Amino acid sequence: MTRLAGEIAAAVRGGEQSARQVVEECLSAIADREPEVHAFNLVLEDEALASADAIDRRVAAGDDPGPLAGVPVAVKDNLCTRGVPTTCSSRILQGWRPPYDATVVERITSAGGVIVGKTNLDEFAMGSSTENSAFGPTKNPLEASRVPGGSSGGSAAAVAAGFAPLALGSDTGGSIRQPAAFCGVVGVKPTYGMVSRYGLVAFASSLDQVGLLGATVTDAALLQEVIHGHDPMDSTSIPQPPPVLCDRLADGVEGVRVGVVRELVEEANSDVAGRLRAAAAALGDAGAKVDDVSVRALAYGVSAYYLIAPAECSSNLARYDGVRYGLRLPGPDIISTYGATRAHGFGPEVKRRIMLGTYALSAGYYDAYYGQAQRVRTLIIRDFEAAYEDFDVLLSPTAPSTAFRFGAKTEDPLSMYLSDVCTIPSNLAGDPAMSVPYGTGDDGLPVGVQVMAPALGEVVMYRVAKAIEASCG
Ligand code: GLN
Repeated sequence: MTRLAGEIAAAVRGGEQSARQVVEECLSAIADREPEVHAFNLVLEDEALASADAIDRRVAAGDDPGPLAGVPVAVKDNLCTRGVPTTCSSRILQGWRPPYDATVVERITSAGGVIVGKTNLDEFAMGSSTENSAFGPTKNPLEASRVPGGSSGGSAAAVAAGFAPLALGSDTGGSIRQPAAFCGVVGVKPTYGMVSRYGLVAFASSLDQVGLLGATVTDAALLQEVIHGHDPMDSTSIPQPPPVLCDRLADGVEGVRVGVVRELVEEANSDVAGRLRAAAAALGDAGAKVDDVSVRALAYGVSAYYLIAPAECSSNLARYDGVRYGLRLPGPDIISTYGATRAHGFGPEVKRRIMLGTYALSAGYYDAYYGQAQRVRTLIIRDFEAAYEDFDVLLSPTAPSTAFRFGAKTEDPLSMYLSDVCTIPSNLAGDPAMSVPYGTGDDGLPVGVQVMAPALGEVVMYRVAKAIEASCG
């Protein structure tokens, strides 16, 4: 395991260690295990060393490079990096180099962070295992026969394998939290609008949120403080100052009201449910008021999500037509060029989603499917609001099981979709949620506990997460 981001930044800022040395250590960890893990689509070796040298020159000149000084960060390959291939693990973006950096990438480099590579994902972030990547799956670094989760599986694996202490991901229905749980790291989906989506390749825009992964709650808070806050380039960005997180982590949970969501605990196997109950009891011991709560509409989250997300994806992915981006397979006319490019460029899951979404939005079906799903989304938002009248945070398993085996769910898309049953509701509501490791199941694989909070409730969410982490020993 590499050292924590906070320790690295302190050592580099204090001139005790060079950023070059940090980056070299990280590149040697990658050289050792990356051929087996495949966390990255691209490792930016030369660029990372050049950035490290620039940071070292600033330190030598008496400058402070910032809170992430010399910290290696892995970036999910659906976030734009200027001049550097951004593939979304899809053949259709072959050869595309974005002309700009995503706001989050820009904020990381401005804070002294060093981008070490672009991580693998399920194609266009559609999936829960990285098995949908056009470039082959990522292995779970803890157990090679198991998936790392997805879609940010490469980012979770990079942190778990010690390739980088921090990583960026995106979370539309659980794609940061579920891989974090499977790989035994912390994963955070901030409030919708808290972190800029400018430069995140769109999947389902009303659900997509950029977030982060790290080895500890403190490291996660450090990165969130660097990337969150208003961005005029994202029209959905919240135009108010973001909360202070790091200084509040030690506040404890005395008197915090914690609701354990019955409907979501019932979705988990007994092993995972047992760990969740143990985490809830530990919060009680730390002074929180813990009780069970029923949030009934959450049971319909997966059904609503698999209409809304494909509907938005069918519209967002219409831009990949062989004209403006990446791959082009020319035909005798424009329609056959579109057809050939899309038929060859997209993988089977992306095609399935585009077809589902196109159907759900078509005349005659729109109200029965898309309209109905939006009404269910409203019910979920209302049920959450009612629960948050009595509780400050809600607790659930992050995923129903520990990391599953490769191939276990590839033949049955529905069983794959159900692995997001606990995470999807927070995306539908736009609320923040995070996964914290809480020991292992009987199979020896990590279990994640999910802490959910109302919109803008990051401070209490992180405090509870910190208390869970502290109680885990
Ligand atoms: N696994 C879910 C899906 O396939 C969520 C993906 C995500 O959050 N990007 O859509």
